[in-house]
Amino acid sequence: MKKTNFILDTFFDYKKNKQQYCLWRWCSTCGNMRIRNELFIRSITELEIKFEETGMKKNSLSLFNIRDINLQTQIIELILKKLNELNNEEIELMLSSRPFYNLDINKDDFLKFIIMELYESLYQRFSRREELLKYLYKNLTNEKIKYVMTKMNTKFINDQNSQQPITNNV
Ligand SMILES: [Zn+2]
Repeated sequence: MKKTNFILDTFFDYKKNKQQYCLWRWCSTCGNMRIRNELFIRSITELEIKFEETGMKKNSLSLFNIRDINLQTQIIELILKKLNELNNEEIELMLSSRPFYNLDINKDDFLKFIIMELYESLYQRFSRREELLKYLYKNLTNEKIKYVMTKMNTKFINDQNSQQPITNNV
């Protein structure tokens, strides 16, 4: 039996129920609730941790809201592991024929959302962006995911050099 990967499972759920998912990171209406719930609940299920033990409030389950640093680390490491386990075919499916990093516009995207969730939750731990990136590159063994991240980073740097003030978000 093929082992399941909850990142991939969530992606299929997103494809099926797109109207329930909002991946626009600046959305103040829904706070990207569905995708964040999926990531959190599927992570603790795999870690065999009960929701009541996490001290989290329902509907506020973003990775950077996890106050328990051990729990947050466990979930970040698990998501990184799941990303590492994706094969090229699966990643290409997520990216579609028009990968977001090749577009001029800032498009919401499933894989980008997950990478940004990791990035933002780690942001509070590192004093410098370079250290954060070093951590991600060290813990990501999947070359294709690393490639996507490099593309995002390049876009971030180019945007920063060419535009008016932007936020910390890519
Ligand atoms: Zn929304």
